[in-house]
Amino acid sequence: MRILFASAEVSPIAKTGGLGDVVGSLPKELAKMGHEVILFMPLYRQARDWFERSGEIVEQTLPTTQILWANWAAEATFFRATLPGTDIPLYLVGNNHFFNRDQIYSPRPDGYDDGVERYAFFCRAVIRGCELLSIAPEIVHAHDWHTALLPAYLHSGLRTSDAFRSTRSVYTIHNLNYQGIGSPAQFAAVGLHSRYWAPDALEHFGQVNLMKGGIIFADQITTVSPNYAREIQTPALGAGLDGVLRSLSFKLTGILNGIDMDEWNPATDPHTPANYEAGQLDGKALSKHSLLDEARLRSKPKRPLFSFVSRLVDQKGVDLLIPALGHMLRAGANAVILGSGEGRYETALAQIGSEYSERCRVWIGFDNALAHRIYAGADLLLMPSIYEPCGLNQMYALRYGTLPVVRMTGGLADTVIPFDGTNEESANGFGFVMPDPADLYTAAWLGMLNYREARVWKHLQTNAMAEDFSWERSAREYESTYQRAMGG
Ligand code: ADP
Repeated sequence: MRILFASAEVSPIAKTGGLGDVVGSLPKELAKMGHEVILFMPLYRQARDWFERSGEIVEQTLPTTQILWANWAAEATFFRATLPGTDIPLYLVGNNHFFNRDQIYSPRPDGYDDGVERYAFFCRAVIRGCELLSIAPEIVHAHDWHTALLPAYLHSGLRTSDAFRSTRSVYTIHNLNYQGIGSPAQFAAVGLHSRYWAPDALEHFGQVNLMKGGIIFADQITTVSPNYAREIQTPALGAGLDGVLRSLSFKLTGILNGIDMDEWNPATDPHTPANYEAGQLDGKALSKHSLLDEARLRSKPKRPLFSFVSRLVDQKGVDLLIPALGHMLRAGANAVILGSGEGRYETALAQIGSEYSERCRVWIGFDNALAHRIYAGADLLLMPSIYEPCGLNQMYALRYGTLPVVRMTGGLADTVIPFDGTNEESANGFGFVMPDPADLYTAAWLGMLNYREARVWKHLQTNAMAEDFSWERSAREYESTYQRAMGG
């Protein structure tokens, strides 16, 4: 099949989270299976910088083109590169006004949030790019709210265009809580006929909701874990779209994300001070020593070293972590924390870092290499998420023999088997259910107790490192979804 991926993030070129990781790795697996995959992403300033730093080739591929839609016009410059490490074509859509900004998701310089306009432009440019480059995809695979308009555009009559005559769409929800919401006035920027301004289309309680359009108009919908696929059909986790999802559940599938087994491999990781594999964990001990040094924590390698690597937003359970962390540190834990996000969380965590400077190091920022060193050097990874569509961090941690302590929600419940004192044959981490700091503390405390039980710990670590989160299985499920979208 010829499959077109359109995404706001592609790792390693521009990523803020799991979306980038998935779109950077799933195409490789599909290509291995013999499919022809083509990627489109925006040419952000950050992407341009990435190409400059890496020395990878990126070249303009078409003359600058006017993109026209409804009453709108904007210029797109198309660049061609390949997904790093592969020969999969990657097209980047350039437009300085929309994409040359301080951050990937910055609003306009005057503070106006023009997300709807930016990504409507991007989706229209993807369509125009396909027409000009004679790319006729059988599947357009759109991801999250940014590219949710593609299924709607395809539905709105594009199939008369040669490029899209037999195209079907698949829409993947990576996080239902970011929906691409805009004011009624912003509907004009979408450039769809007014009949799409309706509750069974893009209108949602008086606003434009791009994600709703993706859900309604895609031929198939997927989300990133089976458990999250169930949860988003409930009022508690449906973020206002549970009704729509329930009524369309016949075309909704949960497919657990895989991880990039090459990038996240303790046996070959170039970012870590030592390499190791299951059964041969000397390198992990070295990595811990070196991480304690880097964190300037008084080197007490016998203490369990907890870690937390995350965007600092309420989804990630930072409100549970902050009250629990002091208790954990006083009970004898060490901790390293890497994150960036909301100011109130950055401040509160930095404060704990300075109050417990001998036991806890807090890095505010985004640093991929440091994230690797943390997964390798820590003993435990905290993930007290309030909701978690799939979660990649816990899978990276498992692969590095770092036991996750998670709230049993979304994909965390699909990947972590909590130790209950009797199931050491299968358990690979620790879990709790209620979103309560005391319950997080109890689960972390259980982790600390068992860290001292060398035999149990080794067993759990072996289980963790034996988990197979390779993309192959997931890619097969995507392949079946594409076939269903095509009516097969
Ligand atoms: P989400 O997509 O909701 O942020 P995931 O667990 O699916 O959560 O993916 C998070 C990804 O982002 C992982 O690759 C993780 O290592 C990375 N990450 C998050 N915060 C940071 C940070 N501050 N520095 C480096 N990597 C980070």
